[in-house]
Amino acid sequence: MIRFEDLLEKVRASNPDADLELLRRAYVFAAYEHKGQVRRSGEPYLVHPLNVADILADMRLDVVAIAAGLLHDIVEDTPNTIDRIRELFGDQVAHVVEGVTKLSSLQFASSEERQAESFRKMLMAMVDDIRVILVKLADRLHNMRTLHYLPEDRRARIAQETRDIYAPIANRLGMSKLKNELEELAFRHLEPATYHALRQEVEQKRQATEGLIDQLTRQLQAALDEAQIPVVRIEGRIKRLWSIYQKLQRQKISLDQVYDFIALRVITQSVKDCYGVLGIVHQMWSPVHGRFKDFIAMPRPNGYQSLHTSVVGDGGVPFEIQIRTEEMHRVAEEGIAAHWKYKEGRVGADRDEQYFAWLRRLLELQQEVRDPQEFMQNLRIELYPEDVYIFTPKGEVKSLPRGATCVDFAYFIHTDVGHRCVGARVNGRMVPLRTRLNNGDIVEIITQPGHVPSRDWLTFVTTSRARSKIKHFIHAQEKARSVELGRRLFDKEVRRFGIDRALLTDEALTRAAGDFSTIRVVKVDDLYAAIGYGKITARAVLSKIVGQEALREKEKESEAAAAAPAARRTTPGSPDDPKIKVSGVDDVMVFRAKCCNPIRGEKIVGYITRGKGVSVHAVTCPNVVNLLFDPERRIDVEWDTSTDARPYTVRLKINVEDRRGILADITACVADDNTNIREVEANAEEDHRGSIRMTVEISDLRHLERVMKSIRNVPGVLAVERSAREIGAVTVRR
Ligand code: MN
Repeated sequence: MIRFEDLLEKVRASNPDADLELLRRAYVFAAYEHKGQVRRSGEPYLVHPLNVADILADMRLDVVAIAAGLLHDIVEDTPNTIDRIRELFGDQVAHVVEGVTKLSSLQFASSEERQAESFRKMLMAMVDDIRVILVKLADRLHNMRTLHYLPEDRRARIAQETRDIYAPIANRLGMSKLKNELEELAFRHLEPATYHALRQEVEQKRQATEGLIDQLTRQLQAALDEAQIPVVRIEGRIKRLWSIYQKLQRQKISLDQVYDFIALRVITQSVKDCYGVLGIVHQMWSPVHGRFKDFIAMPRPNGYQSLHTSVVGDGGVPFEIQIRTEEMHRVAEEGIAAHWKYKEGRVGADRDEQYFAWLRRLLELQQEVRDPQEFMQNLRIELYPEDVYIFTPKGEVKSLPRGATCVDFAYFIHTDVGHRCVGARVNGRMVPLRTRLNNGDIVEIITQPGHVPSRDWLTFVTTSRARSKIKHFIHAQEKARSVELGRRLFDKEVRRFGIDRALLTDEALTRAAGDFSTIRVVKVDDLYAAIGYGKITARAVLSKIVGQEALREKEKESEAAAAAPAARRTTPGSPDDPKIKVSGVDDVMVFRAKCCNPIRGEKIVGYITRGKGVSVHAVTCPNVVNLLFDPERRIDVEWDTSTDARPYTVRLKINVEDRRGILADITACVADDNTNIREVEANAEEDHRGSIRMTVEISDLRHLERVMKSIRNVPGVLAVERSAREIGAVTVRR
């Protein structure tokens, strides 16, 4: 229970010149006028305005705001008029009380049209005198704190309105402390069961982690002392339930997986020290990549400044650290209210401009916009500055975090839309999938049945939803491919050694797999996957089953049989031997080797790598010819002719006589064949010779041969050869 004398003391402490007499009169008037009224809690009504005034005093606002807090319900709940307030307490107090009274009558949970009108009025009131919204926020905070006394239906409506409207406004004004409390209370009343379950879970964690927070704090303090960087204080905390909950929802994880459940905050004496502390922190603990953010150099739109980083502690526990000065901290907690302290009555400093810039911008826009729907969309954009608002071609609005790309948007709509997206149209124009989206973009995703996500997407997507869906897909695909591959490799060895298949029951195979400590096998498929990934060899598995000696015997037998012409048909490579299909496009488990870049139509051979799938070489590749490869790792492959060919890029080296116009003749003859030229580079050499390097797009071997032949027919061309790699020479790697 707050005593009025304590409130006065609080005001006097932060502002010795404050007009306490005004507050005293307002208090006496409110006490008299609200006499006999009771709150739902059973307390005298006066408790409410007194609490509101106290919250405003904590924000260190001026006496006008605090007096308005004491009087804010007078006009609504007593027979007094606004003129009476003006007579007794002056223009300014009356002005604020009038604004708050108007705001209280606004309907936010109504038709879009009325909602838009309500917002318009609220914005007007805010621009007119920002104290109106500050008093309203204090009023809402106390109502939320005492919400449990209200019947359930009213509770839900007020909590929802708080979450949708008042918390975002507080956030926009930089008042994170107030915003946080509003959000926590809204969470508690809107999802009570979830809230209480989570609270209990976090409470258990708290007991386990409090020692850890203490230890980290002491460790950091000692290191800072040693480095002689003075700090005001280090705060350790467990994150708010609402922010933990949002993280659980967003990332679809459990509490155990919450990444930065605990957090430290270092308050320094100067900006320079912030960076000094950061240096020490990154020396002590390893920073988590991509988590460092410098909001000091680049403040958030609401004026927030701080350094953020995440590090991994000694025990492998990751945690977040925020580093800021005392002044930044106050602004971070109190936002616009932090600028009030010594400026009675008005906001004037440049710093405050940023809070009003968005309001003014919005209001100006509203003069022109008459369509309530459009107004609401603009408002959402302004209220949630960290998000971007994207429109579907049908005009639905979707919000995504800033920096989201077309692929993020596709996954946001539906997992299948994400998996199958092949292109995007933004505001009617085709753009690359990696394009970052801006507020108001109209985005249409183009899908193709059967299309699958690319690993490359992981380099640019920003939402965790898209990231996890893509990873999951690629992982499943890799697994399937490696199972298929492993099974074929295994079959090949079974045939080579002529092993009785009756021995190879699922039980026998899983038992054999149990002997390898490097793999975990539950089903036979896991064993095949391990072989396909190159973690173990098929031969090693067979030797576990039939024994080392028996296998060696079988090997000798099969070698002898292979030498005899009649037996040759049973060796690998026979027509019924299933082959790995190679499509034109490199995929997860089968890829074209960089040393020879084989193209469709060429004779090819597969080579199973350790952990990366099958690399496909031209049989003429020196790496294959020179038998650098372990023959046991060879596998038959063939081109998959069932899919459409995407062109390969092939580099040609052409030796020519140095004569005028020869380059034009060559490019003309290539172009005549409808062949795309990507790049051409010509060099003059000694003895009136020249060389031309040309990169062309080729669909298959026949196409390549045709192009090379027609170049050879150009007068003055001495030789044409294909360079395997960009550098022109075939490199042999061991
Ligand atoms: Mn009230």
